[in-house]
Amino acid sequence: MPLGISLPRLRSHIEALSRFGRNPEGQGITRSCWSPAHEEARAWLLDKMKEAGLATKVDLAGNTFGRLGGEGPVVMTGSHIDTVPQGGPLDGALGVLAGLECLHTVNEAGIRTRFPLTVAAWSDEEGRYGSLFGSRAFTGKLDPKLIPDFRAADGERLVDAMARAGFNALEAPKARCDPRTLSAYVELHIEQGPHLETARIPIGVVEGIVGIHRDRLTFIGEPDHAGTTPMARRKDAFLGAADYALRAREHIVRCGSWTPRSWRGWSGNAGGFASPSPGAAGCAWRSSPCRAPSPPAAPLVCSPPWSGRARRSGSSPGACRPAPATTPRTWPR
Ligand SMILES: [Zn+2]
Repeated sequence: MPLGISLPRLRSHIEALSRFGRNPEGQGITRSCWSPAHEEARAWLLDKMKEAGLATKVDLAGNTFGRLGGEGPVVMTGSHIDTVPQGGPLDGALGVLAGLECLHTVNEAGIRTRFPLTVAAWSDEEGRYGSLFGSRAFTGKLDPKLIPDFRAADGERLVDAMARAGFNALEAPKARCDPRTLSAYVELHIEQGPHLETARIPIGVVEGIVGIHRDRLTFIGEPDHAGTTPMARRKDAFLGAADYALRAREHIVRCGSWTPRSWRGWSGNAGGFASPSPGAAGCAWRSSPCRAPSPPAAPLVCSPPWSGRARRSGSSPGACRPAPATTPRTWPR
């Protein structure tokens, strides 16, 4: 017999969760992980899981689980309840609350499943302190050595944010799960690009997972007086970086996949004075190849055009190194 969820209940849960961290009208929801709004939302979610008859658990990385059923490897679903600044009410929340609704429905119908079912909310999925923090810890991919250095863009340390919420960040790697306790994972998520909506297709199944690759490139020029050094004699590192960024993008649009890529740039001079021209500049390269056969972007762009761009502007190539996948404390250093 087909089993139907309660759409009014799901809607009311989405509405209720969206009140935690709600900004003034038109400015979305800001509910970053470990913030008071997030912790209130977590407490609310745990209550709703209990109402649904689930056994609840919060692990050492702050991942929140609701479980239905007995022993055996679990079939898991879920997503995240943290948001980006001014985020929407569905990103992450839909996956968690739809999973909760499914488990609630199964439980109400008195159905016993072959494997236990679990709904999860992964912590700091949006990466305020460290991207995919909770699921990294859960899958054993969180490097304990990096934890003390995780900081938000405003400088707040992860260890302090987690302590405020009642967690010890250094313990998070212990949240690693034994893979034998899992049988399957499925996640419902709103579309993050425009494709399905443009084509008016209501739902899709992903063919691959986005993998983000970052490199930091530095161009070294020569600072000089900005007002009097003739243009032809300048060695402006920023020009090398700017030219490189544009041409590398062209190259990848032409030869690479259709997936997004972006750049961030900086230029610097001695001591923050306004008058010297920039002596160093750089750009951070970020790509999201999400379906094979995407080209290995970094080696492609780091090799010949990298040095050529720099030399043509009078600067020299400084360094091209992989950037960490997690939020850097400051950039470029
Ligand atoms: Zn999301």
